[in-house]
Amino acid sequence: MTRSSLIEECYQLSASALKRSIARCGNASGAIIDDQLTLLNGKNELTVNYWLEMENGEPVVTLGAPNREPQKISLLTLGTPFAGTRYYFECPDCLRRCDKLYLSPEARGFKCQQHFTYGLTTINRQSPYGQYIYQLSRKAKVMDKREAINRIWYAGSYTRRYCSLLKMAARAGMVDYVKDTMKIWEEVQAIKAH
Ligand SMILES: [Zn+2]
Repeated sequence: MTRSSLIEECYQLSASALKRSIARCGNASGAIIDDQLTLLNGKNELTVNYWLEMENGEPVVTLGAPNREPQKISLLTLGTPFAGTRYYFECPDCLRRCDKLYLSPEARGFKCQQHFTYGLTTINRQSPYGQYIYQLSRKAKVMDKREAINRIWYAGSYTRRYCSLLKMAARAGMVDYVKDTMKIWEEVQAIKAH
């Protein structure tokens, strides 16, 4: 099964993180730089071993992420008039030039950003980020539904439609909203009882 992951869940590798190694490699022609990088995906760290060498004058990096096959990725060197030399990866999947590569926690290899989604459509509800977005989208749904209800009050009580909205709000974790609404209802009932 292939599932596109949220980019926020991915470990990020920026080409600039290899800048010093590339310079060392270029100075000592033929040398292979063997080093480590620590990547982050918000809260988790991932240590990646890498080997860097020059092939036909351009750097090539081999990334060894834990529990994955080593992945060989070409880099492109571009001189810029203001920022000096800049490096870009060639995405191993689509060969597009990119300055960042992403590794999803479940994926076997690094890819560029266009293989991932930012949206709400493919949420991994197990991840903390996914959980947050999921709760947020549930709340948004409640608010949308609230707007669609014209009459929330009828004959001294909340309408049935509004009651079902309150249940939905409670399930979405909108505790304060539900509490306030119920307080109003109780106050009205108290007034009616007098
Ligand atoms: Zn790509």
